[in-house]
Amino acid sequence: MNTLKIFNTLNSKKEVFNPIDKNHIKIYACGPTVYNFAHIGNARMAVVFDTFVRTLRVIYPKVTYVSNITDIDDKIIEAAKEQNSEISEITKKYTQIYNEDMSMLNVLEPDIQPKATEYITEMIELIKDLINKEYAYEKNGHVLFHVPAYSMYGKLSNRNREEQIAGSRVEIAPFKKDPSDFVLWKPSDNTQPGWDSPWGFGRPGWHTECSAMSEKTLGLPFDIHGGGRDLIFPHHENEIAQSCCSTANIDEPDSYAKYWMHNGFVTIDGEKMSKSLGNIILVRDLIDDHHGEVIRLALLSSHYRQGLDWNEKIIHQSKKLLNKMYAILDDLKNINVTTNNNLDAISILLDDLNTPGLIAELNKIAKDYHSDQINKDQIKSKLLLIGSVLGIFQDESFNEISDELREKIENLIIKRNHAKKNKNFDEADEIRNELSALGVEIKDNSDGTTWNIKS
Ligand code: ZN
Repeated sequence: MNTLKIFNTLNSKKEVFNPIDKNHIKIYACGPTVYNFAHIGNARMAVVFDTFVRTLRVIYPKVTYVSNITDIDDKIIEAAKEQNSEISEITKKYTQIYNEDMSMLNVLEPDIQPKATEYITEMIELIKDLINKEYAYEKNGHVLFHVPAYSMYGKLSNRNREEQIAGSRVEIAPFKKDPSDFVLWKPSDNTQPGWDSPWGFGRPGWHTECSAMSEKTLGLPFDIHGGGRDLIFPHHENEIAQSCCSTANIDEPDSYAKYWMHNGFVTIDGEKMSKSLGNIILVRDLIDDHHGEVIRLALLSSHYRQGLDWNEKIIHQSKKLLNKMYAILDDLKNINVTTNNNLDAISILLDDLNTPGLIAELNKIAKDYHSDQINKDQIKSKLLLIGSVLGIFQDESFNEISDELREKIENLIIKRNHAKKNKNFDEADEIRNELSALGVEIKDNSDGTTWNIKS
């Protein structure tokens, strides 16, 4: 049986996916806050949900995928001040960069990519409704959601009241009736962006946007809500509170979104990625050195719910596998596919998006390919389906080296020879390691240095 199962954070268990309407699946995932270059953690979220949406599209006739852009946030206001630019310039620039970088990783554009600032009216309506129903209150230009008024609060994150209070302390607001209350609207001074509202000139709190945008773009309830694990609390918990106390059903947290999926964190060589450690890896830098499909496959190499440790080994392994698969696809290029694709080829993926399981199958195909018993027609049909779902095998020029990379390699070799000449052997070794990380093998001959890409 090919049934899709997903781990539903809302019920803390793996469940059979039962769509609200099997003819039209609706999914929303929280996208980036745009004030900086996209890092590998942003990319993991985008690639995981893109792969999941591709899988849904094989099973169901129609899927609508919404993923937002947060273009109003205090971090953006800070960045604009630091860079001495307009907020709209910053958000426009980094939205474009994000979309360009994701397309290099074969992430398809979401069907709808709503921007928070385009939904202020809907947010104000939502907040008004919550005040009318007495789940929220206004005080001196601030509107706060009153957490104790919603009995289901904490269902998604399994946090008790003490943990909720501890977690909401980061959000400082005066006039809180209860320490766990969170901000729906706050006043802006004339140096901050803002909109007129019944509570004065101000701007929305972060959580308000996703409730307003998901309802407007998808309608309630919708099937699946996704995002990074760090969003479970408070962001997603607060979305459920806002929407269930407004349009959806107050007694049923799943009357907003039925299934909640969260991807794990990315670490770098075993360490947490952070500004202070200076180990934040940007997608833009990675795509200078590696093909987008190599990065994408590496991002899918561990199960989405698990942590993913980003290191040279997973990049190398992904590259090796893609090299082998492209060689096989090349060998199959004159085979006409007559076998009908069916879900069997990707059935392992239906088990809560088991991408490492499917990658293991690719490794097996690579290993068995040269045996006598293989059916080339079947293999090709299978590989085409797997490629379309994992978002790989889309580039016929995969093995060609880009001009940028060639230039980079040749410059490094010149630098290394120079270091050697000056007897800076440590530096020369370092450059050799750098080249090796790029997959380059060098050979010193009497008449110079030659290089080739390791297979
Ligand atoms: Zn969100």
